[in-house]
Amino acid sequence: MSTTPFEAIPMSSPDLSEAERQAVLAVVQTRHLSMGPQITAFEEAFCRLTGCRHAIGVSSGTAGLHLCVRAAGIATGDLVITSPFSFVSSSNVLLYENAIPIFVDVDPRSGNLEPEQVQTAVKDLAAGGKAAQRWLPRQGAAARAPVKAILAVDVFGQAADYDRLQPVADEYGLRLIEDACEALGAEYKGRKAGTLGNYGVFAFYPNKQITTGEGGLIVTNDDQAAAMMRALRNQGRAPGDTWLQHTYLGYNYRMDEMSAALGVVQMGRLEALLATRQSVAGWYQERLAEIPGVEVPFVAPETSRASWFVYVIRLAPHILRQQVADRLAQQHIPVRPYFLPIHLQPYMVERFGYRPGDYPVTEDLGERGLALPFSGKMTESQVDQVCQALREAIRQGR
Ligand SMILES: *Cc1c(COP(=O)(O)O)cnc(C)c1O
Repeated sequence: MSTTPFEAIPMSSPDLSEAERQAVLAVVQTRHLSMGPQITAFEEAFCRLTGCRHAIGVSSGTAGLHLCVRAAGIATGDLVITSPFSFVSSSNVLLYENAIPIFVDVDPRSGNLEPEQVQTAVKDLAAGGKAAQRWLPRQGAAARAPVKAILAVDVFGQAADYDRLQPVADEYGLRLIEDACEALGAEYKGRKAGTLGNYGVFAFYPNKQITTGEGGLIVTNDDQAAAMMRALRNQGRAPGDTWLQHTYLGYNYRMDEMSAALGVVQMGRLEALLATRQSVAGWYQERLAEIPGVEVPFVAPETSRASWFVYVIRLAPHILRQQVADRLAQQHIPVRPYFLPIHLQPYMVERFGYRPGDYPVTEDLGERGLALPFSGKMTESQVDQVCQALREAIRQGR
């Protein structure tokens, strides 16, 4: 056994410098703690990055996705095609509006929505009857409800296959929402993640590529939707409304100035932050390629740039993941099963009657996926430590 001195490796870690600390401090010395110059500067940075006309900063990625659902006119009973292999937010925002997530299974390599199946689902649901039935949950959805949108998720920092999703959306008049909360900086055939549908959403929780503490942001070129989203994030105040006039049912989804100031500095460092994450992923890739039973992340040919959010390996089916995780925990190395399928979360089972076996690819990835400690702050020797411990944990299990 190794006698390396104990050094705790965190699951993830924000990368903050003195510049972030100064920026937040500077805001606290003003009177403008919300809706001031920092949020404007943060939004402008995203317009520059993505080339989109509108960027709308919000209080979280979930809030941003919810505003997309509202702006898309998705309402009670509407069907929305989405992925069961995601963080729960992307489905929850549909439930907030009493819409029905229609899950379509994912590509086994990338974990992103499988476009062929999306096409079939939309066609079958439009046809109705028996064809539609197979895509609907066992309970909780009306048989003749219309499909309104596709909500695609860019899983683990890689965009879904939008050139194959967009034609389906076009043919059936659907809105296409891009959950790019894990994909800031990623590129798909040279195009920026976040710009690949009608609206794209980023998130800035401390484990994301950049952080604002809590926060999110929507980008779009849809003028009308952008105006609606700005109103809804600010308690439903339309342009021209006074502080106590509320044209719409809105929310307090505003991002505060301290968070935005943090974000402005982080955006200025984006290239460097992405580059360090890329290096860490590279170190993992080199070492893991030699460990039997470990599958390293697949980068799709359409991905012209992956933006590493988490580093998720897949263990061969015969390896007992929980045993490996327990052994790593004994070495103070945190790992996490990733993702647990959305359709099998208790509230989803209760509402829609899903069962194990309904989305086999998602469930297989969910059973074999293991997120390793990952951040731009990781050193090469920490990556070494994780990989050696992993190799040992797997070897012991044989
Ligand atoms: C992080 C994330 C979100 C948004 O998370 P918040 O914590 O609300 O900012 C949404 N979707 C996915 C896929 C995510 O990973």
